[in-house]
Amino acid sequence: MKYWIETLGCPKNHVDSEKLTGLLASDGYVPADSAESADLVVVNTCAFIESAREESIATVLDLADRRTPGARLVVTGCMAERYGDELAAALPEVDLVAGFGENLVPSTPVTIGQRRRVPDFDLLNLPRPATTTPWAYVKIAEGCDRRCGFCAIPTFRGDQKSRSTEEILTEARALVAGGVKEIVLIAQDLASWGHDRRRARLGEALEVLDDGGTQPLIDLTNALAKEVERVRLLYLYPSGLTGGLIDAIVNTGVPYFDLSLQHASRPLLRNMRRWGDSARFLDRIAAIRQQAPDAAFRSSFILGYPGETEDDQRQLLDFIEAAQLDWAGFFTFSPEDGTPAGTMAEQVPHELALERLREVSELQDAITARRRDDLVGTTQRLLIDAPGIARGVRECPEIDGVVRVNPSLAVGTLVDCVVTASHGIDLEAVPA
Ligand code: SF4
Repeated sequence: MKYWIETLGCPKNHVDSEKLTGLLASDGYVPADSAESADLVVVNTCAFIESAREESIATVLDLADRRTPGARLVVTGCMAERYGDELAAALPEVDLVAGFGENLVPSTPVTIGQRRRVPDFDLLNLPRPATTTPWAYVKIAEGCDRRCGFCAIPTFRGDQKSRSTEEILTEARALVAGGVKEIVLIAQDLASWGHDRRRARLGEALEVLDDGGTQPLIDLTNALAKEVERVRLLYLYPSGLTGGLIDAIVNTGVPYFDLSLQHASRPLLRNMRRWGDSARFLDRIAAIRQQAPDAAFRSSFILGYPGETEDDQRQLLDFIEAAQLDWAGFFTFSPEDGTPAGTMAEQVPHELALERLREVSELQDAITARRRDDLVGTTQRLLIDAPGIARGVRECPEIDGVVRVNPSLAVGTLVDCVVTASHGIDLEAVPA
């Protein structure tokens, strides 16, 4: 039997899909060459914002047309979790809508309203197949204990559930044995990893060390750095970026700080039910730069959150100018079912949000280009991801720019290279 998985959305979803392929392989399934030749077609959906939901539905309908007659079509992922039975009723062409932890190929037909979870099935801890790239995401927790005003994730992924240190190290060791040189840690709220386990007093050897009150992620980062060449941490809530965690990140040799800031205006951040403000963020960035002058920074921001004013926009522009981040992503606000922001008065017209987005993007694009130009002439240790494509510590896979190198450099090797040119977000380099 052959399967085909189509994955939409963020890196976390891609990790879920990898785990699903591991599960299907253990059930005797092999990958198909195309959706048309598969016996089982799975769509791992994204429900993040309206456009992501539309894309998910369009993909399901497209695959329903393209699949071979008799092939089973299963919809899973965030949309299945969030709108399960509603989705099953609206899409009669789909054979099964399965939330997280549900069996995709049940031995008996499952009807709407009778969706069942497989006992002890934990997507996070499923085995995964060998990766085809020298880097891999490792998801270390699911769910989130925070309740940001715009975010529906806790309503369908639930509170944070952290994997144990041992489970994560076991997965990391298997990846390294398969040739992985860089592990990218992901979770909804990475800096809070382990707090739920500590609360539940499930601490194991490494976590017991945290009883003195340190942050579990520090020990995990240190432990992983001993196992793999590079460890990169994504999605750091700014208040979780403690001095100890900054030290741990800098000591891994990958001083890359992906800060989940969302805005810079204090009143707007409070409306979002989030911590921080421009001054605090700038202080932290300055302190990191003092400690690690080569540190790279990424963040993401929402434009057009309800109640956003021209003054808020000014504060964001000032922050972007002052912070000089290497990378930033900008998104317009999208009202989500079940979130406080979805029903707030003072919704910002979408056109205005787009205008503000264009304004900050223009500013950031120029900053990013300048920061890339500044790297010309420097020597960077590059990981060769694919023929002709490499990354230094300043570039996160799949999100940031890349470094173009000679295609003869062996994939999976680390090579010291001199940057010879910059083209927008991408660089060119030759071996030093
Ligand atoms: S920290 Fe992230 S995942 Fe958690 S509620 Fe806020 S935006 Fe959502």
